[in-house]
This record gives sequence, structure tokens and C-alpha cells, in this order.
Amino acid sequence: MSDRDRSFWAWGYEDELLGDSEREDLAAFVEEEFDFPERPRLDYPELSNVTLPESRLDVPDELADFCAADKETRVRHTYGRSWVDRVRGFRENFDSAPDLVTRPEDEDELRAVLEWASDAGAAVVPVGGGTSVVGGVEGDVDGDFAGVVSVNLREFDELLEVDETSRSAKIQAGKLGPDINDELADYGLNLRHYPQSYRFSTLGGWLATHAGGHYATNYTHIDDFVENVRMVAPDGEIETRRLPSSGAGPDPNELVLGSEGILGIITEAWMNVVPRPPYSARATMHFDSFDEVVTAARRVVQSGLTPANCRVLDKNHAKLNRLTADADTHLLLLGFEANDALPEEELDRAIALAEDEGGRCPAGAFYVDETTGEDDRGASEPERRWRDEFFRDPYRTDAFISLGVMRRTFETAVTWDQFPSLHTDVTEAAMDAMERVCGTGFLATRFTHVYPEGPAPYYTMLAPVDPDRAIEQAEEIKQAAVDTVIDHGGTTTHHHAVGRAHKPWYHRETPEDYRDALRAMKRSLDPEGVMNPGVLVD
Ligand SMILES: Cc1cc2nc3c(=O)[nH]c(=O)nc-3n(C[C@H](O)[C@H](O)[C@H](O)COP(=O)(O)OP(=O)(O)OC[C@H]3O[C@@H](n4cnc5c(N)ncnc54)[C@H](O)[C@@H]3O)c2cc1C
Repeated sequence: MSDRDRSFWAWGYEDELLGDSEREDLAAFVEEEFDFPERPRLDYPELSNVTLPESRLDVPDELADFCAADKETRVRHTYGRSWVDRVRGFRENFDSAPDLVTRPEDEDELRAVLEWASDAGAAVVPVGGGTSVVGGVEGDVDGDFAGVVSVNLREFDELLEVDETSRSAKIQAGKLGPDINDELADYGLNLRHYPQSYRFSTLGGWLATHAGGHYATNYTHIDDFVENVRMVAPDGEIETRRLPSSGAGPDPNELVLGSEGILGIITEAWMNVVPRPPYSARATMHFDSFDEVVTAARRVVQSGLTPANCRVLDKNHAKLNRLTADADTHLLLLGFEANDALPEEELDRAIALAEDEGGRCPAGAFYVDETTGEDDRGASEPERRWRDEFFRDPYRTDAFISLGVMRRTFETAVTWDQFPSLHTDVTEAAMDAMERVCGTGFLATRFTHVYPEGPAPYYTMLAPVDPDRAIEQAEEIKQAAVDTVIDHGGTTTHHHAVGRAHKPWYHRETPEDYRDALRAMKRSLDPEGVMNPGVLVD
């Protein structure tokens, strides 16, 4: 993939953006199903219309071979891909473009960037795939910086070593998800981490943000696959020992995981990789009540079973994604994987638990055996459609922007005892805010991950917005919703990271002395404070 193939403002590839007829279909859908007022049909933006503030930094001689300051490169490194980022891009507003963009090829060039930036007082923003949804790659930094330099890490894209005995691979941090697994396939191995942003995000970005993948239980975060990490900081380097596990003091990997570029730049990691499990078993359970589907998911995950998929989709989520004909049905998607035989028994146990709570399984269980090619996955229509839509869905958000529709998400994790009151109050706060600010709104809920101790709920909000005030309206709504999450003991993020956007809530949920200690570590590794200023801590 070259940068040119990707849209400069929207989620993915330019040629995969929704065309006029698909946009008409979406507009009709929200007008008919949600009773939204008739929406405008605005044209997609043009790069040629964008103007940028002049760069505050000259290209330094020592970085000249891998440094750019042209308009297109700066535009493409201005934002991540949050809804707010895409709205600003849609409006052709790239005012916070970085002054320079570097693309180092090795650690020597990377060190040269960090040294130059520390001396010049320039803020450094590491960029992997640039899919951050929390302002993590935006050079909108407070403080007295001479300018902002983005460090694009995509040249760090090699699979360096494979240890087939221990089932581990040493992978450079700038490698994109599909490229990692294409190369691992030569060894019959696979990194089992599939975030929805998989196609466009990198290993380094995942490690720096505690990314959440497709496993609903067990291996939920990228952290669960890490053996060691290597990070280059302005003043020091951290390379942890490659170990399956260790009891030696606070875990040094944990300093690096989730550090969001504020301490240094992750360059490579040894990751646990496995053969792709050839056997799977799946079922879609239908429920009449949301409380029942939630209890069923809790019982499955507390039973000792570890389903790869255990996703609750409330009836609004099913409606939004057109998964069922019946508007009142809540769904529980169940899936198990195995290496040696079909996991029929596990699926049967999970179905029985769900049936105990009132669930029905109209299409029955279905199985995939890749060793024989046997595949009856067509049997479960909602489950298959949900999978097909998973990677296509982000393009709809872009199309909705062009129709003056906010489609914004937030996610959390909370213990089971707190979930019912959190959910009731978050639903009320989000709906009240959408009705107050936009006149109407629609809220859909799903669980992306479930733990024996609690779920990770994920909310999608839709509301008609005024294209000229869309960001202000959406920020007021999100503030009301996430304030309620924090008031109820939830976290500001289960896997979308903190960045600049979630920092106020992150500060409400973390101990002040802990943040002081984090700042002290930052001072030790980054004495000039140039690494991604404004992210996580001030
Ligand atoms: C449509 C969509 C779907 C998404 N789905 C998911 C999902 O399913 N699960 C999930 O967890 N997230 C998801 N995200 C959020 C995002 O994709 C993740 O946060 C991802 O981990 C970011 O990876 P990246 O390579 O794009 O990193 P970037 O966006 O480039 O960077 C993210 C942060 O990490 C820092 N960083 C990047 N690389 C390095 C490095 N090598 N060293 C140090 N710091 C670095 C950056 O400075 C920034 O703060 C989604 C985003 C979008 C737009």
C-alpha cells in the first residue's frame, strides 16, 4: 500500500469510499428508520483546496535525506482517523499540520531525529498507521515548541526473525497487520490480533495503545502476545528480556505498552505467533430481552469457557447493521476455535448456558473444518453478515459525514455489578444530549470483549448534525456520555487509548501520585519533554 492510495481525509482507500448510490441508500435508511430530517448530500473534499499554515521549521541538513515538508505529506500526517479528525478533513481544515515529516529507515536515523528535535525544542509525534481515534498523532501541542516533527515509522517493516520452536517472531514496529500475517504464513504461523483497523494499523501503534483485537476473551489485547519490546528514547534505550513470563519486579514491558509515544519510539518486538486454528464452531443466539442476553454472556464467560467470539449486539445494533429482519431481537454471537478437533462440545455448553437465560438458536450451530474444506458458515446469516461488514463499516462513517450525520463511538470496561446502572444512565445521558443538541438521536450497544469480571461495552451514537457546527455538537454529546461512564466506575477506554482526546477522563480515573511517577519516568527518558507532548500527561 502506498500513501497515495489512501484517502487524505477519510478512513481507507480512496477507491473504496461509498459512491453516490450507496450514500443515497444510507440517507434513505436514516430518514426512514430513524426519522432523521432530510439530509444534505455534500461533495467529498479535494486535496487541491487545502491550504496549510507555513512550516515553522526548515529541513535540517542532517535529516534532509529522509525529511519532507511538502503540502501533501504534511496533510497526510495531520490527523488520525477519529470522527472529529475526519470531519475536519472533510472541511479541508488541516491547520494543525506538522511542520516536518521524517521517515527514518533505521535506528541511527531515528536517533538523529530525536537528538535534533531535543536540541531544536521541536515536538516529536510518532506515527505508525495513523489510525488513532484519540488525537494521538496530531501535532496540536501546547507549550513552547519550535515546531512539530512527525516521525513516520513505516520503513521499520521487516519480519526480522522467526523462532518456530518457541512460536515467536521478531517484528519491526512499522509493519502493517496484513503484511505481518502474509509473511508469517510462509512459516505456517499467524499473529492472532485483528483490530477493526487491521488493514491500516501497525504493530508499533498496537503496542503503544494496548490495542484490542478480535478475540472476545482470553487474548483480548495485543499485550497478551508480547514477549519483549525494544524502544529508542531521546535519552536511552529499553530492550526487555525475551521471556514467556517473569516475576522479576514491576514488568518493564508494561512501561512501554500503552506509552502512546510519550517516552520513546518502539522499534521492534518479539511476539507470540501460532498456526491458524483450522477448526471453528459458531452460533447466533436470539433473545427478547437485553438483560437476558447480558446475563447469558456473563454466564458463558464465567463458566471457564474461552470463546473467541462472545459478542452481545443489542437490538439497535442489529438494526443499524441490518442483521435481522426482526427489530426486537438482541443477539449473542458465539464462536470457538481449536487446533486439533472441532470445538463442538464447547459450543454446545455455551448454547446451553444461553438457552438457560432465554436464548434461542434458530439456525443451529455451524462448523468450519479447514483441513477438509468443510464449511457450512452460510447457515448463520447474522453472524456471517456481521463479519462481512466488520471491515467495510468504517467507510459508512465517512459517507455519513457527507450527509450531515454524526456516527460516533465510545467504549469502556466496567465490572458486572456496575454495568446495569452504567448502561441505564449512559443510555439516558447520550439520548438526552442528542435530543437536546440535535433534536433526535439513536444509540446502539454491543460488547466487544467480555471478562469473568465484567464486559467491555461499545456504544455507537447517530444523530443529524448541522455540518457547520458538527464538531461542537458532537463534543457536547460525547462529554455527557463519557462523564457518565466515569461517574459509574468505568474506564475512559478499553482499547482506543487516551491520546489528547481522552486525557481529562484518564486523569479522573488514575491516581495523581501514579501520574507524577509516570512524569518522572518521562523526564528520565525524554529530558527535554519533546515526545508526543500533551498525550496521557501534561
Ligand atoms: C475505523 C477504526 C477502527 C478501529 N478499530 C480498532 C480496534 O478494533 N481495536 C483497537 O484497539 N483500536 C482500533 N482503532 C484505533 C487504532 O486503530 C488503534 O489505536 C491502533 O492501535 C493504532 O495503530 P496505528 O499503527 O495506526 O498507530 P497510530 O495511529 O499511528 O498511533 C497511535 C499512537 O501510538 C503512537 N505510536 C505509533 N507507533 C508508535 C511506535 N512505533 N512507538 C511509539 N509510539 C507509537 C502514536 O504517537 C499515537 O500516540 C480503530 C480506529 C479506526 C479509525
